[in-house]
This record gives sequence, structure tokens and C-alpha cells, in this order.
Amino acid sequence: MRRAVCPGSFDPITNGHLDIISRASRLYDEVYVAVMINKAKKGLFEVDERLDLIRQVTAEYGNVRVEAFHGLLVDFCKQRDIPAIVKGLRAVSDFDYELQMAQMNIGLSGVETLFVPTNPTYSFLSSSLVKEVATWGGDISHLVPPLVLDALNKRLRKD
Ligand code: ADP
Repeated sequence: MRRAVCPGSFDPITNGHLDIISRASRLYDEVYVAVMINKAKKGLFEVDERLDLIRQVTAEYGNVRVEAFHGLLVDFCKQRDIPAIVKGLRAVSDFDYELQMAQMNIGLSGVETLFVPTNPTYSFLSSSLVKEVATWGGDISHLVPPLVLDALNKRLRKD
């Protein structure tokens, strides 16, 4: 079985993430979405809320599994027999950091990283930008799934 992982913080999941996950799900038999827990960085959404949103918006793909992980991504991969990490590259500005991480990960454990060019529609899109724009009442309905839009509106109105 060919497996891959799409890692990230997904705070919250956007259409840019979904585009990469859906494309990975066509290339691999099984795709893990790993919500990497960073205890130093409190998100807008709790990890369980992020998992729940991701599970709902990826349910249609059938071969996508969603899990949280605290630790090194290569350990997540080792424990689940995953040989490949799939990442979206938005712009040249992503490249330096992503290349460093990819080289570190293959050096640590032999796990490969595959870069997928972002759909140009989403090349400027990040979770932080979505939160920023939503905070000030900007329209983000074309950038996140409807379920995430509802969750964001509720959260930003302080539930
Ligand atoms: P951020 O959006 O803050 O970078 P993440 O850490 O959750 O958030 O992103 C995880 C990964 O998802 C990124 O490393 C990248 O591979 C992919 N990704 C994020 N946003 C996009 C996008 N707009 N288009 C394509 N891939 C994306």
C-alpha cells in the first residue's frame, strides 16, 4: 500500500490545504493528514476542533485519515510505515525553509518529500491570512469550506 502524509497546523484548514490533500489522495492509496501539535503556539482552534473540521471536509475522499501528532514528523512516518511527505509550494518564499526541512527529514530517516505546486488560485492563501481577514470582517467565503467559514465566524464572535 502506498502511503503519504500531509502535515501542518491546519488552524484552520483552508481550500489551499484541501487542494493539496485531494491531489495527494489521487496519487496515493492512503493519505494521512497530520495535525502537528506545537505546545508553544496556541491556535485559534483547539487541536480537537481542527481534527473535527478536517475529518468533515475530507470525508468525501475515502482514503484520507486524520490524526494529531506531538513530536517529529519522521517518527509519525516511521510508526505508520509512510515513506513520503507531500507539501504544497505556494511561492519561492516557501522554498528555502521547505528545502531545509526536506533535507533534514531525508537525512534523519530516509523519508522523501514531494512538492506539489499550489493551485494559483490559492498561492497567496494561508491560515494566518484567513484569520486576519476574517477578524476584520473581510469576505473569505471563497477561501475556506463553508463549515470552516461557520466555525471561524462563531469563534471570532467569541462563540
Ligand atoms: P500555513 O497555511 O500557516 O502555512 P500550515 O502549517 O497548516 O499552515 O500548512 C501546512 C502545509 O500545507 C504547508 O506546508 C503547505 O505544504 C500546505 N499549504 C498551506 N497553505 C497552502 C496553499 N494555500 N496552497 C497549497 N498548499 C498549502
